[in-house]
Amino acid sequence: MNQPAVEVVDLVMRYGSTTAVDGLSLTIEPGTVTSILGPNGAGKTTTIETCEGFREPQAGSVRVLGLDPRADARELRPRVGVMLQSGGAWSGARAHEMLRHIASLHAHPLPVDLLIERLGMQHFGRTPYRRLSGGQQQRLSLAMAVVGRPELLFLDEPTAGLDPAARHATWDLIKELRGQGVTTVLSTHYMDEAEALSDCVHIVDHGRVIASGTVEELALTGAQNTIRFVARSGLDVESLTLVLGRATLVEEITAGSYVVTGDVDPALLAALMSWCADQQVLIDSVMVERQTLEDRFLDLTGRQLR
Ligand code: ADP
Repeated sequence: MNQPAVEVVDLVMRYGSTTAVDGLSLTIEPGTVTSILGPNGAGKTTTIETCEGFREPQAGSVRVLGLDPRADARELRPRVGVMLQSGGAWSGARAHEMLRHIASLHAHPLPVDLLIERLGMQHFGRTPYRRLSGGQQQRLSLAMAVVGRPELLFLDEPTAGLDPAARHATWDLIKELRGQGVTTVLSTHYMDEAEALSDCVHIVDHGRVIASGTVEELALTGAQNTIRFVARSGLDVESLTLVLGRATLVEEITAGSYVVTGDVDPALLAALMSWCADQQVLIDSVMVERQTLEDRFLDLTGRQLR
């Protein structure tokens, strides 16, 4: 198996009496877009900043591209792109100057003009950093993080406060970089962002990973999904429940309208169809309703994401 791009084992980080990260472990596979998804205060930024080498693990360990983010910082710097939530630019520097300067520090930077156009930064090139709007600062920070063609990219809430156009430009760029083999680690509290981009999602709450997997796996694992179907009224739901088994509940909610609740998978759907065939029942319509990641988060934590 490939060496993980990032490996965090039992990380603990405290600020005074606040435990921000509480024994968090996760692995990020190379070439993926991986989201760390959780509400504000879950410990995402602290975890990412530790991976970036800005903080020393208080307990546990962090490896990035097989290296120690602090001891091997010099080796990692040209290979890792970092977008900080707080920007990280000089307040007096003009936007394009700043980007060109960062590009000049790298051996094979991306074409700066192309990046400026991609991220819609043409119109504020001469504006000093401190006068940029929040969204403009975000885009400049993203451009600075990617311009050096990093192997691994850390993006902390990259689209917070962006308008929809800039948000989609950011998503497109992340997808394109994935196509080039770049690993992206993304912290976000936007469910749709995690769903749209991620090969893998780690759901974090109270400083721990509480579930990991692909969007599909997370939405399905242990999920109470439903099948709704319409057929003639008065089917023998008790016999159907026996056949479907596995803690499945079948109800006729209104005449001829049925809901099957349980661990819905292809085998369950096939068993339902087969039972109907045996009973000479022709289904008029059938619909599988899958949980979204949002539902899953609610299940896991008892809370909405925001
Ligand atoms: P997230 O990125 O998921 O919002 P953070 O890592 O920023 O989470 O914060 C986790 C917890 O640690 C929160 O309770 C936050 O208030 C606290 N925290 C974060 N940074 C500091 C800091 N510099 N000093 C004190 N507490 C902090």
